Amino acid sequence: MSQHFDLIAIGGGSGGLAVAEKAAQFGQRVALIEGAKLGGTCVNAGCVPKKVMWYAANLASAVADAPDYGVQVHSDGLDWGKLVAGRNQYIADINGYWDGYVERLGLTRIQGYARFVDARTVAVGDEHYTADHIVIATGGRPIVPRMPGAELGITSDGFFALEEQPKRVAIIGGGYIGVELAGVLSALGTEITIVALEDRMLALFDPLISETLTENMKRHGIDMHLQFEVADLERDEQGLVLAARDGQRLTGFDQVIWAVGRVPNTRELNLEAAGITVERSGVIPTDAWQNTTVPGIYAIGDITGREPLTPVAIAAGRRLAERLFNGKPDSKLDYENVPTVVFAHPPIGKVGLTEPEARERYGDTLTIYETSFTPMRYSLNAHGPKTAMKLVCAGEDEKVVGIHLIGDGVDEMMQGFGVAVKMGATKADLDNTVAIHPCSAEELVTLKVPVRRPGQSV
Ligand code: FAD
Repeated sequence: MSQHFDLIAIGGGSGGLAVAEKAAQFGQRVALIEGAKLGGTCVNAGCVPKKVMWYAANLASAVADAPDYGVQVHSDGLDWGKLVAGRNQYIADINGYWDGYVERLGLTRIQGYARFVDARTVAVGDEHYTADHIVIATGGRPIVPRMPGAELGITSDGFFALEEQPKRVAIIGGGYIGVELAGVLSALGTEITIVALEDRMLALFDPLISETLTENMKRHGIDMHLQFEVADLERDEQGLVLAARDGQRLTGFDQVIWAVGRVPNTRELNLEAAGITVERSGVIPTDAWQNTTVPGIYAIGDITGREPLTPVAIAAGRRLAERLFNGKPDSKLDYENVPTVVFAHPPIGKVGLTEPEARERYGDTLTIYETSFTPMRYSLNAHGPKTAMKLVCAGEDEKVVGIHLIGDGVDEMMQGFGVAVKMGATKADLDNTVAIHPCSAEELVTLKVPVRRPGQSV
């Protein structure tokens, strides 16, 4: 005998919880299947623990800067154990909140890992469950490439499990997770080497961001090696060794962290039984409405390979529930102009197109405004990190199609400017906004002379 539901959500992370919550609020009978703790990657091994560590790192930097402002501080350094214990308790509280909330919503919670039996049935252990609608929201996990000694390294999951602060760490990967972990550990006093396959850090971001980030990382004493292709990991008498394909060797690390991307959690789902074929990368193909190729089965969040961010998974899940159960047939997520932040030191924010992407879409109609400066926060500190900003504007009306920021405070700035871009703001709209003084954000509404005009390229 199987139990029947209106909707089954597989995965109790950002996307699964969002779609299940909404469906329940619309009066549906909903089952939520999760094999681990509620909250998924974001709560347990992503955004939340990362941001707690980032706050600790900011405090450590502020303590180091305080004497230049005449603020005398006595610091005994970092109590890693206390930081980790506090962070873990905070996460446990969030898990507890979700446990209670799911119960209050009246969801049927099923603990375990789901696999498809057919397009309408999933099994957890020996139990079978059927539903009119099944949403796959199983997220992803960190990649550890196959190569000799790969197991000597840990991943972001392993980083969050560290009980002691490592002294010398090599991070493999110049994407956003590698950059964030490098910034946090470095500010907390760990010696950092970061290697990347690409010829610049954050290669998918605007070049101005990569340049300024590199400058800021050097200022923090981070050792960077670009176009470094790791061939194997070894251990010698000095510690862990990164060996590159071209013969370079970096040694003396007590931890190596793989930050080379994530792979979708599809393997255990037995998707063939439901008639779903995944892409080579493991991504489940979906259309604009989150439909898979099989009617009644949907996919949301990281598993779809689109904008792997918590608010994206949540928004897609909520809109799907609106479409299925609240009479809104056109409800779907618009994936254009999703603002995002990299919690580097200092942070990075972006919305819309990079300059190279905008050139591909809008040709030589672009007007580019840029600025770079040391913010007032570091007026009394000799080696403060740089802030840089770029506006990418297209066409005669200079519609703002991209904003790229790096510097203190841009993480909070970006949300409001994201609204402006989503509303179709032009450069004139920014110019018409009175500045707030003195702060870094005012630069964005007072940029005057373009660095590149239509017809000029880099
Ligand atoms: P997940 O949250 O990963 O949830 C999937 C759930 O499915 C998991 O709980 C898993 O246990 C469960 N599951 C898997 N297989 C099965 C199965 N067969 N049966 C039942 N359950 C299953 N995003 C941001 O927006 N901001 C950030 O600052 C940020 N920082 C990050 C930092 C790190 C280090 C990492 C790794 C990620 C970060 N992210 C951040 C990304 C964010 O965590 C993900 O985009 C988000 O969690 C995706 O949600 P999801 O619902 O698709 O999957």
